[in-house]
Amino acid sequence: MSAVPATPAVLDDIDRLRDPDEATAIIRARTPLLGTEDVPLRDLAGRMLREDVTSDEDQPPFPAATVDGYAVVSGDDAARRRVLGDQFAGNVERFHVQRGDAAYITTGAPVPPGADAVVMVERTERDGEHVRIMHTLRPGENIRPVGSDLRRGDQVLTAGTVLSPAAVGLLASLGRTAARVTRRPRVSVLATGDELVEPGQPVGPGQIRDSNRFALVAALAPLGVELVFAGIAPDTDTAQRAFFTACLADSDVLITSGGVSMGRKDLVKGLLTELATVHFRQLRMRPGKPFTFATAGDALIFGLPGNPVSGLVGFELFVRPSLLRMMGHTATAERPRVRVRLAHDVMPIDRIDYLRVALRRMEDGTLEATSTGAQQSSRLASLVGAQAFAIVPPCPEPYRAGELLDALLLEPV
Ligand code: AMP
Ligand code: MG
Repeated sequence: MSAVPATPAVLDDIDRLRDPDEATAIIRARTPLLGTEDVPLRDLAGRMLREDVTSDEDQPPFPAATVDGYAVVSGDDAARRRVLGDQFAGNVERFHVQRGDAAYITTGAPVPPGADAVVMVERTERDGEHVRIMHTLRPGENIRPVGSDLRRGDQVLTAGTVLSPAAVGLLASLGRTAARVTRRPRVSVLATGDELVEPGQPVGPGQIRDSNRFALVAALAPLGVELVFAGIAPDTDTAQRAFFTACLADSDVLITSGGVSMGRKDLVKGLLTELATVHFRQLRMRPGKPFTFATAGDALIFGLPGNPVSGLVGFELFVRPSLLRMMGHTATAERPRVRVRLAHDVMPIDRIDYLRVALRRMEDGTLEATSTGAQQSSRLASLVGAQAFAIVPPCPEPYRAGELLDALLLEPV
């Protein structure tokens, strides 16, 4: 951020290798909490509430029957009672129920004055204008009293709640038509590379299909961000500069793929030092050592490496949590950590290795982790069946089958 005072992280050599934890801390410190917007009820699912919601009415607003049956006076021991009429849900009849009377009533209907209990229809026998009651009632039986679900003045939802179906239903039941929630970040996704063609287009000599943009868009979809499908930028300074400037002008976040490594056509890396403030460019991890994190004003820029697995792993570890935090999710921003038992030996390297693993719940409750196969960073198939990243720290010795490691859980097992 150009206007932000220099911190040690900014003054640091931007090419120094960062441990993943340090990278996370740098990104977190620069991830803003986005402002709010008012969103209509039907679009509120999963959104982060940013206001406290108080009930300004009692619910139910009238004593309501909880069963279909007859509204009666509980202390009345007459076995046979005269039926005054029907009280359905949705209106108020003019009955006054006295001893010897009953009013047919349906679930949710207001209990008529005089009645203090409702007998289930299953415990009655109708006989023309009369009903026989085969049950001794307690006062209040099968009646929801006024305010028994909610009291006027109760705080029913707290700012910081992720709106579940029940919470949205509650808002509707209170008569709200909209709620104040965190606005969604606008996220531009841009692929770079002269070799890229759109899937479906003919692939010329030396060309490959752009898979990263679609993989990233798919990774973004469940987060509920507002997506800008920015296209493919060729590897020229002029083209990339124009793409970056356009994306940054209308996005909270720019995610680029490719061009952040050591090659002469890796132009993203250099352009970002010119157009933005770069905080780091390399991670002490595999896959995905090249990774540029930069800011321009309030906008965050994630320069992901072009290798498909590296890009997606970088997205999982750093971009996803930042986007969730931006929207106000703190507790669920990071993937849960679990302990896993290795099904086979694993050779560590000189950096943290995020091994893609499939998991199996064993009889003793432990999770057994098996590598998804060859782990090269071009092999998307290594990520396809992966349920977790096993975190393999550097170590002089191999990890042996049966040893326990931490893992980031990508999906429920
Ligand atoms: P780069 O990071 O630009 O040096 O690219 C590293 C590797 O990833 C190269 O083999 C690229 O061809 C490949 N790559 C770059 N961008 C994409 C993309 N959008 N889709 C699939 N592969 C890509
Ligand atoms: Mg490239």
